[in-house]
Amino acid sequence: MNEVTNNKKTAFYWDETCFWHGGGNYATVIPVGGFVQPLVAGGLPEAPETKRRLKNLIEATGLSSELAILGACKANTEDLLRIHPMNYLKTFKALSDKGGGELGLRTPFGPGGFEIAAKSAGLVKRAVTDVAQGRFRNAYALSRPPGHHCLPDWPNGFCLLANIAIAIEAAKAAKLVNRVAVVDWDVHHGNGTEHIFYDRDDVLTISIHQDRCYPHDTGSVDCQGEGKGLGYNVNIPLPAGSGHQTYLEAMQKIVLPKLRAFEPDMIVIACGFDASAVDPIARMLCGSHTFREMTRMLMTICEKIVAAHEGGYSELHVPFCGHAVLEELSNSKIHAPDPIHHRITVQQPDERNQAHQSDIVRDLATALV
Ligand code: ZN
Repeated sequence: MNEVTNNKKTAFYWDETCFWHGGGNYATVIPVGGFVQPLVAGGLPEAPETKRRLKNLIEATGLSSELAILGACKANTEDLLRIHPMNYLKTFKALSDKGGGELGLRTPFGPGGFEIAAKSAGLVKRAVTDVAQGRFRNAYALSRPPGHHCLPDWPNGFCLLANIAIAIEAAKAAKLVNRVAVVDWDVHHGNGTEHIFYDRDDVLTISIHQDRCYPHDTGSVDCQGEGKGLGYNVNIPLPAGSGHQTYLEAMQKIVLPKLRAFEPDMIVIACGFDASAVDPIARMLCGSHTFREMTRMLMTICEKIVAAHEGGYSELHVPFCGHAVLEELSNSKIHAPDPIHHRITVQQPDERNQAHQSDIVRDLATALV
């Protein structure tokens, strides 16, 4: 494959060991104990199948043959130290070497959990680096564990290392990018990414999320950055039950104007699919066509796009949402029909609820500095 072919391609980064991450005894997001009986097929909803099935689907449809399918090295200590303090990394590694455990909130890991998390961050780092260098037009990193909730010294919400922040800082250290925008459409607030870049004007962070779904006390529209970062953090908390039209209005009225004004060298999508109408731990009404349209919109702003996989807990639907994003990124004609598209379209908010949601988006737009 020569460079000319390469730089028109979409790259897809994955690693089998990322599917081996896990641990803990939970009934969905509640730890088992007391009167909470373990689920027979349960455990955390953050399970390998949603991600593995996306990889399987692109192979079953043949889309994988149009992509550059690649792996990556683990993010190294220097990469991790740009975001995380040494004492956190040492504690995490020591517990991982002892067989695993829990360091934060809902972030259990098993033996080798540290190395798997470093691999997940490495997938995002390589995707960002390769696209920044022009090796590929755009890329998708099937990272697991996810990263957008992780604070420098406190893992939470299934996230053990701040994958996207690690990747951006590595690319900045290598002088490959200047201005990067993160568009986080995972249904939960990207509190970790927000925290890490809160006082920075060279990384624009935007999060569209279900209002107070997780964390319950972050993600307000009033949190817009501080110091020179004021105006470079955008929160779009939407009410439960928001659907396709509301997401597109949030993109058109808030996200796209912010991106146009910022003029990023690269957009990194915190690409969670838990705003799906059938996600078990959130309450939104998006379909695969919503993620497709949002991808299309971002491609009008910036050529260099990296989607880093975050949440999304429907084994059925995540693969079709991911396939739709990859179809757009790669401009492929290979289509995977979404088996619940009709069901989701007939469940969209009625006129009255839609008017209410549209009002909220308009109010959020006017609340921004
Ligand atoms: Zn999420």
